Amino acid sequence: MKKYKMKLLIFGPPGSGKGTYASRIASKLEIEHVSMGDLLREFVKKPSELADKVKNYMLTGALVPDELVMQVLQQELASKDKFILDGYPRTKEQAKALAEMAEISAVINLDVPLDVVVARLESRRQCGKCKSIYNLRSMKPKVDGTCDNCGSSLFQRDDDKPEVIKQRFSIYEKETRPALDYFKSNVINIKNTESDIPPEVVVARILEEIKKI
Ligand code: AMP
Repeated sequence: MKKYKMKLLIFGPPGSGKGTYASRIASKLEIEHVSMGDLLREFVKKPSELADKVKNYMLTGALVPDELVMQVLQQELASKDKFILDGYPRTKEQAKALAEMAEISAVINLDVPLDVVVARLESRRQCGKCKSIYNLRSMKPKVDGTCDNCGSSLFQRDDDKPEVIKQRFSIYEKETRPALDYFKSNVINIKNTESDIPPEVVVARILEEIKKI
């Protein structure tokens, strides 16, 4: 596959590691990592009536309405021709809209069960500034509570609490699986049933599969 126009999607339930893998794949392949969740978290930082509404959806683990998410993404993708998109599409409608916007080269599907997801997310931490992701069991920062990359403080996301995780997992099964099923070709399935498998092992497997396409 030619790198210069590579457009990848990564699917997986919350806690499947898609943000971590996407950022590593992006730097290996020299493409951009676009995270829909991070774009929305940035969006809600700037006070507005709409930001308050979006924040409420995110706090309860519900999906933000398609129309708004598509608007935010369209602006972001307009200037990019090689990327890995993480957290989008999450509904069949979003998948259809994306297929009209871009020709997708390959779709990575992370298949991870609920118990593994809960174990992982409880120990996930994120940098408030550069968005790097850590795990207190499998990917610890060098200094407790501090980002290795930029030295800022790490935080636990409000939606990483077990009851919200279960809610997000069931939304994933109901709403997002049809979005995944929308893509029929070049789908790379990665099954992962261990909670603390090192990210470099999974990334190496994904890169091997991408090479074959
Ligand atoms: P993430 O960081 O990808 O887990 O996203 C965090 C939250 O942002 C989700 O639980 C949703 O509330 C919202 N969100 C992210 N991506 C989307 C999307 N494609 N469609 C709707 N809501 C989204």
